[in-house]
Amino acid sequence: MAVKDKEVLMEADHVKVYFKGKTRKAPPVKAVDDVSFSIMKGETFGVVGESGCGKSTLGRTLIRLLDSTEGHIYLSGEDIAGMRGSQLKQMRKKAQIIFQDPSACLNPRRTVKQILMEPFEIHNMTGQMDVDARIMELLNLVGLDAYHLSRYPHELSGGQKQRIGIARALALEPELIICDEAVSALDVSVQAQVLNLLQELKEKLGLTYFFISHNLNVVYQVSDRVGVMYLGKMVEIADCDQLYEKRYHPYTEALLSAIPQVGEEHRTERIRLKGEVPSPSNPPSGCRFHTRCPKACEKCSQQMPELKEVEPGHFVACHLY
Ligand code: SF4
Repeated sequence: MAVKDKEVLMEADHVKVYFKGKTRKAPPVKAVDDVSFSIMKGETFGVVGESGCGKSTLGRTLIRLLDSTEGHIYLSGEDIAGMRGSQLKQMRKKAQIIFQDPSACLNPRRTVKQILMEPFEIHNMTGQMDVDARIMELLNLVGLDAYHLSRYPHELSGGQKQRIGIARALALEPELIICDEAVSALDVSVQAQVLNLLQELKEKLGLTYFFISHNLNVVYQVSDRVGVMYLGKMVEIADCDQLYEKRYHPYTEALLSAIPQVGEEHRTERIRLKGEVPSPSNPPSGCRFHTRCPKACEKCSQQMPELKEVEPGHFVACHLY
């Protein structure tokens, strides 16, 4: 699922992430189930889906915060799924993560300077470079200054805390950053500032983002391509503009119909999905969406649809196409 004439930075190849059930006899929770896609160098690949669809699990697996059960993950051509020890540590320099809740991911007992020092300490780099100068550079990159160095996280606003989270992710000059609901916990006005900052940093530093959000509106604003996930599966992947013009999967259609539009000509009728999202430990047979799909037919409950290219660069997993 690469894009023509663009370099692949990361490739997920039939990745599965299963967790043990609550009891020994309980079936495994299939959080991510046989997902394949590529992230191109310099792009923002957005991932949307309801809570519990597996998007955060997938993001964490891509940088080995979680181990995959099956499949391969290639970063710049190297399979990272089986990496251990120093190899894994080196890989972590290339791929970093920004978490959803900036309050929970910063150590409350450490100052901003100590927090930003951590990546250099972990990688034994404190003797090899002027870390103080690099920390100042990182603070400036995210719009903060020397005043913040001696502050503790509780003395900062939500937006400032997230800027520290971004600075820490940038410390080792990664190529890929997983943004895991990076603006969801912030006020709307601060969300816009942080999104603008992420965009500026992407252009300035040539970064690649894997941008996870439950909010399709936010994903649209920042992404070049979008992947739609439902119950552990990638059901549609397309260029952002392509998806806006024409979506094929009934689930994507329902998600998009929920975005408020300005102007009569853009307004579409809201599609309300019936029923709850099924449990990932006992997913429906065939197409996982068939229990809620308004267009389901008999085949849908029996046969799992494959992700197929329906037009150049546009992939859909649905028996209708
Ligand atoms: Fe709906 Fe069937 Fe397509 Fe699944 S395969 S999305 S159930 S029409």
